[in-house]
Amino acid sequence: MAQFKTYRCKCGFEVQTEPLGHYSLMSGEYYTFRCHKCKDIVSISAEDIALAAYNLTCPECGSDKLECWSVNSQCPKCNQCGTFVEIPGSIMMVD
Ligand SMILES: [Zn+2]
Ligand SMILES: [Zn+2]
Repeated sequence: MAQFKTYRCKCGFEVQTEPLGHYSLMSGEYYTFRCHKCKDIVSISAEDIALAAYNLTCPECGSDKLECWSVNSQCPKCNQCGTFVEIPGSIMMVD
């Protein structure tokens, strides 16, 4: 079970995620990455990460330009750091 919150960057980009960049669900543990090609945040399960070893690719576009991401990291759209603010009352329970 995880608690997702919505965060918004100054540029308008929004992401629903766990602030720490990793979370656990019934289906396993997930990590969040920033894809340089999609300019988006993607979640990949620990199982897939283990299977991919050093060839981890984006599940959306297949790019290998992935970087570990948490809410304090750079925004994938505008490349600024630490710009995300939590939107109050936006907690969503996921399991
Ligand atoms: Zn991608
Ligand atoms: Zn931004």
